[in-house]
Amino acid sequence: MSGTGYIYKREPLIFELSAPGRRAYSLPSSDVPACDPAEVLPRDQLRREPAALPEVSEVDVVRHFTRLSQRNHGVDIGFYPLGSCTMKYNPKVNEVVAGLDGFANVHPLTPEDLVQGALQLMYEMQTYLCEIGGVDAVTLQPAAGAHGEFTGVSIIKAYLASKGQGHRNKVIIPDSAHGTNPATAVIAGCETVEVKSDARGGVDIESLRAVADENVACLMLTNPNTLGLFDENIHVIADIVHRAGGLLYYDGANANAIMGYARPGDAGFDVVHFNLHKTFSTPHGGGGPGSGPVGVKKELADFLPVPVVGKDGDRYYLDYSLPKTIGRVKSFYGNFGVVVKAYAYIRSMGPEGLKRVAEDAVLAANYLMRKIARDYHLMYDRICKHEFVASGVWQRDRHGVKTLDIAKRLLDHGFHAPTVYFPLIVPEALMIEPTETESRETLDAFAEAMARIAREAEETPEKVTGAPQTTFVKRLDEARAARQPDLAYRGDLPKE
Ligand SMILES: *Cc1c(COP(=O)(O)O)cnc(C)c1O
Repeated sequence: MSGTGYIYKREPLIFELSAPGRRAYSLPSSDVPACDPAEVLPRDQLRREPAALPEVSEVDVVRHFTRLSQRNHGVDIGFYPLGSCTMKYNPKVNEVVAGLDGFANVHPLTPEDLVQGALQLMYEMQTYLCEIGGVDAVTLQPAAGAHGEFTGVSIIKAYLASKGQGHRNKVIIPDSAHGTNPATAVIAGCETVEVKSDARGGVDIESLRAVADENVACLMLTNPNTLGLFDENIHVIADIVHRAGGLLYYDGANANAIMGYARPGDAGFDVVHFNLHKTFSTPHGGGGPGSGPVGVKKELADFLPVPVVGKDGDRYYLDYSLPKTIGRVKSFYGNFGVVVKAYAYIRSMGPEGLKRVAEDAVLAANYLMRKIARDYHLMYDRICKHEFVASGVWQRDRHGVKTLDIAKRLLDHGFHAPTVYFPLIVPEALMIEPTETESRETLDAFAEAMARIAREAEETPEKVTGAPQTTFVKRLDEARAARQPDLAYRGDLPKE
């Protein structure tokens, strides 16, 4: 294809738009005398031929990227019920706030006196997260949930070492845990011990007792867990771990279900991390910057990374004086823009608004779970929190249709698929988190699509196993796409 006109075609995917001489900009001619590159650069490093860059007009560029953006599913286009990831709608106004000049362009080395507003925002954010988590001190430094876990476990290790308990090296993790928990525990130098879930999907108390010994550093727990189930035994669990001399780590990546209702600190947790990029107005995914603040109880506050933001009278300052700090975990003060968005979100919602989020998220999940339970197996059939895990075992065993097929077929119905095959303890898992921002009509439409797919699995299974049919690309080799992505523009691609 010449590149003069992009003809919309689905197959094959036409990518080449370049035509010689075309430009997307026009600049006045330079009045600076041109220099000879050979005078400023070593000769062997000079390009021998011009780079093969795409030559395109401005409309070509705009249309190309707009078209690409429309080929992706996003939360601004449709329902995105990705369990354990809280893909909720985030108010755009918070993006505008974070983009304000004084926030977006503030230099990290600006003297404290000139950035009192930014420091105040961070200080107040620390305070809000203390309040929401039931903890006493917070660092905003970690850049992601996993980074927060690493920071938290490192704090726990340093604290234990300071008490002469440096030998404690075991981190207990339930078999329903998010994969980052064991990964971060290991990177922080610990060994992991798995503890089984009981028939109700909670921590099996006897198994926990069996492993809670003098080598335990901590238990890492998500509550509600990745099954979306709240573990009512949390006080018993906390007691067992504390009596064994270990601490409790709360993975609060998805706090949507509990905000304003339950505080991990009150339930006995000593260390908590939050994902601002799930619960607090930054989308998760897309590889953008995240933020995983960590909160701790008083006894652990001296171990936080430095600096934290302090307040002295009316003045805010960066406090580097923590005597037992584990040191920095990130340059400067964390991903400030994400903190600004979370701050704007918390301030605009207010305590009552955050409680409403929890109520509506839990209501939506239970509503959807009951509808989907007509056609799909529920391994743990009880009231859930912000998410639930259904299973495709009926479809697999009766019709040879796998959960992956169901997920792909959902794309044909215009929905993003839920998280699949996680948590690992549910076979053919479909992990669904509707979030608080979806209307009843959307939830009904999704449930209807799931019901239709269940019927198709029975009557015309090849429709499901051959899905997706209506998307721009069909079923991909996902492992290869992730491991060997082919993203580079090459001017030498064969032209049509
Ligand atoms: C997302 C998530 C994490 C990890 O957060 P990242 O920011 O992706 O590192 C940890 N635990 C749970 C339960 C999560 O859902």
